[in-house]
Amino acid sequence: MPDFSIYHTKDQVFEEVENLVKANGQIMKLDTLTISDEDSDPPYRSSMKVVTVEPGGHTRDHDKKMRLLLNYGEHGRELITVEVALRLLQILADPSAELERGDRPGGPGKARLKSLLHNTVFKIVPMENEKGRDLVEAGNLCERKNGRGVDTNRNWEVHWGHKEKDYDPNEEYPGTKPFSEPEAGALLALAGKFKPHVWMNAHSGMEALFMPYDHLPHIPSGDIAQATLQVLEKLNNVSCGGRCALGSGGKSVGYLAHGTATDYMYERLMVPLSFTWEIYGDNDAHFNDCFRMFNPVTHDAFDKVVTNWADAIFALLELLPSHPAIPRIHTASHRGGRKVDAGSARSGKGPSAGEKPGEEPLQDRQLGAAVQGWQSRMTDAARLRAQVFDAPGGRKGLIGGVCVALVAIVGFVVFARGGGRAAAAKRAARRKREEAAL
Ligand SMILES: [Zn+2]
Repeated sequence: MPDFSIYHTKDQVFEEVENLVKANGQIMKLDTLTISDEDSDPPYRSSMKVVTVEPGGHTRDHDKKMRLLLNYGEHGRELITVEVALRLLQILADPSAELERGDRPGGPGKARLKSLLHNTVFKIVPMENEKGRDLVEAGNLCERKNGRGVDTNRNWEVHWGHKEKDYDPNEEYPGTKPFSEPEAGALLALAGKFKPHVWMNAHSGMEALFMPYDHLPHIPSGDIAQATLQVLEKLNNVSCGGRCALGSGGKSVGYLAHGTATDYMYERLMVPLSFTWEIYGDNDAHFNDCFRMFNPVTHDAFDKVVTNWADAIFALLELLPSHPAIPRIHTASHRGGRKVDAGSARSGKGPSAGEKPGEEPLQDRQLGAAVQGWQSRMTDAARLRAQVFDAPGGRKGLIGGVCVALVAIVGFVVFARGGGRAAAAKRAARRKREEAAL
């Protein structure tokens, strides 16, 4: 079982969330959504807590602010992500230490960080998959799906239901149709209304900073995607010690994922910065030790991961104003507190270039659709080839090579043990899980 002297139980998480919101009502609001599928037999019911945080104080419309939708705990077994959400809420409730850190050499400056916060609204889902978490706390430490066996990160409509050759329903059953699951439906409704500039979906299983596409082996083309990649490159240095795999989830993980939230947010809701962050993985964990595969097991490692990835949101905040899809916001310069237009840091863009972020990625979107058409015409063999071998040089190429090598080693071990085909498939699935938990 998880060490609950380090980790919070689900009940403790929500108790802490409620206490934080209660004590900070001027900047925090808690919505508890009742979500269900009443048509199923028996009905499937869960709930979803959404914390809205406006460090500058509540406002009625959020049009003039940077909007971040942050999702944690999508896969039940990835407990560590929920702990990051909790830490982030604690910091937002009292950001004084974080602001002081902004004044260190190379930091953004206290005044600027404060100003960025005042121009931001967060919607934070600390634990998307409450029913799946129940199963984990009941002892099923390998469970990633929701309370009725669906991987909600395969239940979204972009390229939904497409199955790879090594598809394993125990890991990634996508549901009976797109948005069959109330968890995905609730997030869709939330994002549709909130219109975030940033979607960040936190997972564990490896260290990676992913952007679209998950279902294609490359990132979208265009300036927006390039700027987003640059944001991730900087975050990799600041928040991941340069260790994170970077770029398209579909390329860097070593397998394509279909029907993911991140692809949908980008493709359909036109969220310009759409991310999956993989915040922790233990490659040395035994494949039966799911808890250790996805979660740090010592106090020190736990604290390091939680602090680091809560801080990463502030590092992201600093990088946002220079992204071409972020609207112009006014922040105080850290040199003397003069009011400067952070958006004007962008060069070569008219004043309205960033005003309607939803319309910016149109070029990317059209290209995405074209590529999707191309993708569906590819033969399975070609797609597999692209998936395994079409990796760029450097680190990503290395990761691809390591993946291939690992699969080969696992295959050999199974072969040597005479485990048979079924066992080989099982091993491959476990290995896959070990490498990524997207
Ligand atoms: Zn995951």
